Amino acid sequence: MNATQANAIPSFSFHTTPRIVFCEGAAAELAYHLGTTAQDRLMIVTDPGIVALGLAEPAIASLKNAGADVRVFGEVEADPSLATLERAIAMALDFRATGVIGFGGGSSLDVAKLTALFAGSGQAIDTAWGVNNARGPRLPLALIPTTAGTGSEVTPVAIITVGEDEKRGVSSPLNLPDVAILDPLLTTGLPPHITAATGIDAMVHAIEAYASRNANNNPISRNLAVEALRLLGRNIEEAVFNGGNRAARSAMLIGSMLAGQAFANSPVAAVHALAYPIGSRFHVPHGLSNALVLPHVLRFNAADAANGSFALYAALGPHVFPGLRAEGGAQAICARFIDRLADLSARLGLKSRLRDVGITEADLPAMAADAMKQTRLLVNNPRDVGEADAYAIYKAAW
Ligand SMILES: [Zn+2]
Repeated sequence: MNATQANAIPSFSFHTTPRIVFCEGAAAELAYHLGTTAQDRLMIVTDPGIVALGLAEPAIASLKNAGADVRVFGEVEADPSLATLERAIAMALDFRATGVIGFGGGSSLDVAKLTALFAGSGQAIDTAWGVNNARGPRLPLALIPTTAGTGSEVTPVAIITVGEDEKRGVSSPLNLPDVAILDPLLTTGLPPHITAATGIDAMVHAIEAYASRNANNNPISRNLAVEALRLLGRNIEEAVFNGGNRAARSAMLIGSMLAGQAFANSPVAAVHALAYPIGSRFHVPHGLSNALVLPHVLRFNAADAANGSFALYAALGPHVFPGLRAEGGAQAICARFIDRLADLSARLGLKSRLRDVGITEADLPAMAADAMKQTRLLVNNPRDVGEADAYAIYKAAW
């Protein structure tokens, strides 16, 4: 084999949402994009903030103008509970919904996925947790994100909080909607701190997907991750500080979706695993939890040269930060990239230390033990993470 021959590509599979519509103002013309008729009985799943703002009103008016019957479930909370999901399913059955439309952030989209699934199939929820345990059929499903971060409109996972703080997920290709509608005008009113945290979350999805040790890491995901980071890195500051800039908002929404497609097929790793206890124990929003540990996990991974992640991070650096100095070899470029990511979070106004979100040093050992339960994510990390490692990472982030 000579040097110009490529390495063999390991086998992989790739799933994504079959139809994606990107259009400024798409929500206000929703009936057109969905082909809505007077026979349709459509249930919209959203949250109380969106109801109060009236953000979904133009979409609802469009559906009603087409003759559809519309019912709104507007009760989705952050980290949605099983009780919320059960109420949504009951409404869908009572309404005899012919389709479900998720409209909102990741929580609303997750509840919409599972409402369409369980109202369509009648399967008992308890038999569907985990990977590929869901049976169809589900109701027709459209997802309309109003934040640029989770990428939930193109991921097969939906997460529900069971009991106090146990997170359970249903992962199934059935959770990919029939159509994702991306309308950047829905995101122009997002406040800066939400734009910043959700935007960093999307960047973490791309970085972790690109460097994932998962056997299904694949060239499609890596290309999507690079393009996602190019869009997110060059537009996040403008989107945060000049939220009305539609070009920046469009780039963030597309970047978030591309990152979602990447990690849906090349899953995330230790940043998300270590963010998990911060969210569940201290109710810190998902994006901020990730931002708090991001530079420290990447430094931990890069410090062990044998796993090669430093070279992958160095390759990503110039896509995120076009001016990143390229001299000094991959280790030096990687170190500058990680420093720049930490600076970026601070410049965006995000809290940068665990102590800033009410975590004490005495909390760290239990968090490290908790993080070890995220084996589903940790196995994808470029470097093995033990409990002592997790503690050291938290200590550095504290
Ligand atoms: Zn995330």
